[in-house]
Amino acid sequence: MKLPIRKYGDPILRAKGKRINEVDDKILTLVENMLETMHAANGVGLAAQQVGYALQLTVLDVSHVEDRPSAMILNGQPVADLQTAMPLVLLNPVVRLGEATDVGSEGCLSFPDVTAEIERSISVELEAETLEGDAVRIEASGLLSRALQHEVDHLNGILFIDRMSSASKASHASRLKRLQKETARM
Ligand code: ZN
Repeated sequence: MKLPIRKYGDPILRAKGKRINEVDDKILTLVENMLETMHAANGVGLAAQQVGYALQLTVLDVSHVEDRPSAMILNGQPVADLQTAMPLVLLNPVVRLGEATDVGSEGCLSFPDVTAEIERSISVELEAETLEGDAVRIEASGLLSRALQHEVDHLNGILFIDRMSSASKASHASRLKRLQKETARM
């Protein structure tokens, strides 16, 4: 089932996600719905907060993006074909940021029609749990690195506008204000 995506101004987007200690049927259904919602919206990632749940849970799929490459090492093994590793369902992720950064274009399903250049680490290491309860370790660079950082931010109540330059935020100010108003009316 496709879920409504919470938009900027909804307080749930600022809530830090609770750790998931047990995967029950509710979580399994939520994950299924999050995957359907992300794919229907053509997104590369979706955090639980964006569909109304403050949980340490995110789904990602960068395999359909062809013009922005990703590299991925999964549990020490380089992944040659990203499609074999996607979609990712990550519980309780913890990310370690690489030192080198670059600036790249980013959008967010909770911010329709807003894109901005955001500075992020080029590479990250991430540890998380899978739905099956296994520990998973991902080393990523390129778009996947950026998407992982964006999603882990969501799980901690941090939004990409928090990482915009002040000039960029100023240029989006009226759109952001309008979004907040629209959300408040719903
Ligand atoms: Zn987002």
